[in-house]
Amino acid sequence: MNIVLFGPPGAGKGTQSKLLIEKYGLTHLSTGDIFRYNIKNETELGTLAKTYMDKGELVPDHITIKMLEAEVEKNAGSSGFIFDGFPRTIKQAEALDNFLNAKGSQIHSMLALVVPETELKNRLKERAITSGRADDANPTVIQNRIDVYNNETLPVKNYYQTDGKYIEVVGLGGIQEVFSRLCAEVDALVPA
Ligand code: ADP
Repeated sequence: MNIVLFGPPGAGKGTQSKLLIEKYGLTHLSTGDIFRYNIKNETELGTLAKTYMDKGELVPDHITIKMLEAEVEKNAGSSGFIFDGFPRTIKQAEALDNFLNAKGSQIHSMLALVVPETELKNRLKERAITSGRADDANPTVIQNRIDVYNNETLPVKNYYQTDGKYIEVVGLGGIQEVFSRLCAEVDALVPA
């Protein structure tokens, strides 16, 4: 089972991914986390990614796609993936489809967390205090991430909608409340 967890910055993708992988025995692949890991370890990829992330811009597609595919390969024995923060562009969505199809696999569903913009900004401001993430601390960068999301990432929704794979979930409320909503959708995908 392969699921794309979709939503704007601050929607709760990371938090919910962690709960979902535990319950369903899936592998969590967060492109943001992988980039941050590379930055921390001062790899070449990290140094490159940082120049984009600090501004709230997307890391170029060819770099992100190559990295993501390598991570999937590394976890070849996995029973499925939660893709968190990927695909973020139509190009990435197409690449993921081609890549999975070549393995006789596919994306089963895109679960989208829907949260109003004012709430997103509040959450990111809160998160900046604990995350230590430079891109959470700067209001201009936050606004740019939301703009980039609306311009470049939102079209990915239509991509999966056309395939009948797009499901919206209300991202407001407590963590467990949102988790229950997601589980109901996942359970409906794979009847027990
Ligand atoms: P958030 O969803 O809160 O913005 P992420 O951790 O998912 O945080 O991403 C942080 C940053 O990493 C993004 O602003 C972007 O610069 C980079 N990034 C993450 N995933 C991708 C991707 N799929 N394509 C391009 N850039 C990405």
